[in-house]
Amino acid sequence: MTEIIDGNAVAQRIRDDLGDAITTLEAEAVTPTLATVLMSDDPASETYVSMKQDDCAEVGIEAIDVEIDPDAPAQELYDEIDRLNADDNVDGILVQMPVPDHVDKQPVLRRIDPEKDVDGFHPENVGRLVAGDARYKPCTPHGIQKLLEAVDVDPEGEDAVIVGRSDIVGKPMANLLMQKAVGGNATVTVCHSRTDDLATKTRAADIVVAAAGVPEMIDGSMLSEGVVVIDVGINRVDAETEKGYELVGDVDFESAKQKAAAITPVPGGVGPMTRAMLLYNTVKAAGRHNDVSVSLP
Ligand code: NDP
Repeated sequence: MTEIIDGNAVAQRIRDDLGDAITTLEAEAVTPTLATVLMSDDPASETYVSMKQDDCAEVGIEAIDVEIDPDAPAQELYDEIDRLNADDNVDGILVQMPVPDHVDKQPVLRRIDPEKDVDGFHPENVGRLVAGDARYKPCTPHGIQKLLEAVDVDPEGEDAVIVGRSDIVGKPMANLLMQKAVGGNATVTVCHSRTDDLATKTRAADIVVAAAGVPEMIDGSMLSEGVVVIDVGINRVDAETEKGYELVGDVDFESAKQKAAAITPVPGGVGPMTRAMLLYNTVKAAGRHNDVSVSLP
């Protein structure tokens, strides 16, 4: 029997378990506060930000909504980040990516106070993650670690193949899985668009994390029996639905399911975990910022 890993259920447990930490903070008159910064009129980005704000409201995190005209000069975004860095009421800052083409992403990531960088993308936080001393683990790979833990998959000694080497998913995922730490100790191979003979690599894996952004590129023929498949991909493909499209992952779910011991669906797998771990990092940031010791799930 293949286990379908229910990301919604695991994410709900994380949100529930964050309740204790939030109660501890409230007892010290601290309301964890996340500032979301949106400099885009892309409907998908607007939806992501509003979902994150709804998540905050559900668990008792205050969300501050900052919107910047996408045609404004980059300086306007920098000034806003400076203001939020200096605002003592703000514990976490999230700048929704992508920013407009005329805004260089790297200076934006570097400008956020690393203590408030709940995405974990500031170079200081990336460095700490690599050094095995993470302050804020990036939300998607951290969520995947929690999913594996929830279904009793210990990466220790396993061959993990990650398809994708982006800064937000592939690279931090590789780092977390190879750390000499609980939830790590895997032997990790990172594949990308220049990888030769991808199928040979994925077939040799005990755990496959697919994060390429290519619809259903990994099918059952590329997997071995008993593999654990984590599908990060979220791809819109044309379909005869009301919206004219449907969401599919990077894995061909039906054929992969025939081989897998456990597999995440799309939607309802990794996506909800990414959102839950943003709340986790925000609560952690509030504890650090206000010098309150909180117990995190
Ligand atoms: P990027 O586009 O930044 O990176 C994609 C990576 O996949 C690159 O390293 C690229 O290689 C590699 N790649 C592309 N095509 C192939 C191929 N044919 N074979 C092997 N490797 C390939 O994407 P992200 O990491 O940001 O996101 C990946 C997917 O995950 C997307 O669908 C995105 O929407 C989704 N996503 C989902 C999240 C969630 O919460 N569920 C969160 C974040 C992302 P190269 O480096 O050589 O270009």
